[in-house]
Amino acid sequence: MKSEPAIIGEAKTTKTAGSEALFRRAKEVIPGGVNSPVRAFRGVGGNPLFIQRGDGAHIYDVDGNAYLDYVGSWGPHLLGHRPPEVIQALSAALELGTSFGAPTGREVELAELIIDAVPSVEMVRLVNSGTEACMSAIRLARGFTGRELTVKFEGCYHGHVDSLLVKAGSGVATLSLPDTAGVPRAFSDTTIALPFNDLERVEDAFRARGDEIASVIVEPVAGNMGCVPPAPGFLQGLRQLTEKYGALLIFDEVMTGFRLSRGGAQQLFGITPDLTTMGKIIGGGLPLAAYGGRKDIMSKVAPVGPIYQAGTLSGNPLAVTAGIAMLRAIEKRPELYDELEQASNELAAAAPAGVVVNRVGSMITFFFQPGPVRNYEDAKCSDTAAFARFFHHLLGRGIYFPPSQFEAAFLSTALSPAHLNATAQAIREFPA
Ligand SMILES: *Cc1c(COP(=O)(O)O)cnc(C)c1O
Repeated sequence: MKSEPAIIGEAKTTKTAGSEALFRRAKEVIPGGVNSPVRAFRGVGGNPLFIQRGDGAHIYDVDGNAYLDYVGSWGPHLLGHRPPEVIQALSAALELGTSFGAPTGREVELAELIIDAVPSVEMVRLVNSGTEACMSAIRLARGFTGRELTVKFEGCYHGHVDSLLVKAGSGVATLSLPDTAGVPRAFSDTTIALPFNDLERVEDAFRARGDEIASVIVEPVAGNMGCVPPAPGFLQGLRQLTEKYGALLIFDEVMTGFRLSRGGAQQLFGITPDLTTMGKIIGGGLPLAAYGGRKDIMSKVAPVGPIYQAGTLSGNPLAVTAGIAMLRAIEKRPELYDELEQASNELAAAAPAGVVVNRVGSMITFFFQPGPVRNYEDAKCSDTAAFARFFHHLLGRGIYFPPSQFEAAFLSTALSPAHLNATAQAIREFPA
């Protein structure tokens, strides 16, 4: 359905009775009324919008309001909503059945596509969520090295894996939770959380406990404390230290995979991790994720190796079909990454005074502080009340940004020059 809203970027009064009624009902039956915390708008106040449909650059709520979408389901929609390639492939796949719990040719095809695109991945296992991918990757690293500790970075989010919910970003940051209840000390004690972009602290950790550290897991470009790029030399340093001490380097590319380049952040920065986790874009909007890497490591996964990991719906035919269509569409448009780079540059140039913009490719965050923002400590110094006003300023003009200071906004190829201009204009009009 093509129904471009007549006016974009212009202030309007919005009807929200439908969303409000649904939210009241939802809160009775779903904790907080949402199935993932950040959706509740707690970081910006107000009621979440209930979405009815998406098309291209827009989402439409149940009250019939249209919004330019800079969330893109938190990452998957690199090509906007309902890219024709994906929708057509999915419709055809539906005719064949939804799940078999037995191998299909399409899983092989997707694995081959991922291996072809991502430099360090020689073998890959499909799972259902980024959380599962990260959980499985750190288990594999432990099993492979015979060590128990994981180094992670404050403000990085690797899904809601028990042992990784230490100083995690994303919803944990939005809600200002120190960490989470329900994780046994014995689990969090297996994690060493260090400041992002601080190589010296990593070196210290390895000097102290190098023979116990199984892996270092990192978002190569952090996106879950808002966008925070790696400092020059940081990723190289992690590569050298892990190699020196016999630990594995895990790049969590659930967000950056196929977003920053077809080969992800590892291609952009020229670093070869041992293991990589992926999700979001590789599922084309359906629940699909993956972990992969060196063949000698991946060969330790069951049924060939002793490290168990399984899933009833893993490699689900619909999800895999959407993923294949998505990756093939990306393969056909190599120029899209340069275009998105330019587009996000344009938005950055519109930033109000006193706001620092961090961006890499199509990931962008407006931090309400003078900056620089190099790590989680820095990010937390932002004026979240000002961000909330900014969010509602944009929303009132038909522009849907992530409802939290600590999340990256995502651009899609569905945004036209007119959409981008309207967004830049609305950003410029924000009263500083
Ligand atoms: C979204 C995300 C995850 C978690 O993925 P889910 O599919 O939500 O479980 C893990 N790591 C990173 C970097 C992410 O952005």
